[in-house]
Amino acid sequence: MNSINNYMKTEFLSMDINESLARGVAAFFILPLDPSIEDVADVKTAVSEAVTNAVIHGYRGCGGRIVMELTLEGRELTVSVRDEGVGIEDVEKARTPMFTTQPEAERSGMGFTIMESFMDELKVESSPGRGTTVTMKKRL
Ligand code: ATP
Ligand code: MG
Repeated sequence: MNSINNYMKTEFLSMDINESLARGVAAFFILPLDPSIEDVADVKTAVSEAVTNAVIHGYRGCGGRIVMELTLEGRELTVSVRDEGVGIEDVEKARTPMFTTQPEAERSGMGFTIMESFMDELKVESSPGRGTTVTMKKRL
């Protein structure tokens, strides 16, 4: 199938094991488009970075719910990953390559940079104390 409109909403607990679950769900979601192996890998990597951020930064490993929404319009994929965790004080700074608030945990601060380069668009909306929504688009 070359073009398809579809929508899916998933909600899962903020746990390490759900990072691979979310990645897998996103890969299966785009499969009907017969995407290239590279596109599948890009989407999986971007989803993995966004969900990992929600788990380790958003909820600081303390649990909570993460909502991932997937939308296909023709060959355009939109993925959003939302948490209701601590939020980000300065989004622009957080998006800077190599910026991390967890250097002691050997984070490299490259998550947002990876999402940005593997997807066509990246939007980060956040309010401190309320949570973060990352929305990414990619043409497959
Ligand atoms: P890496 O992804 O390379 O392991 P990192 O997670 O620190 O390191 P980014 O993913 O680029 O790097 O995120 C940059 C910073 O933005 C994080 O260190 C964190 O402070 C903040 N951040 C990112 N996502 C969230 C989130 N969902 N909730 C709260 N803070 C976040
Ligand atoms: Mg990260």
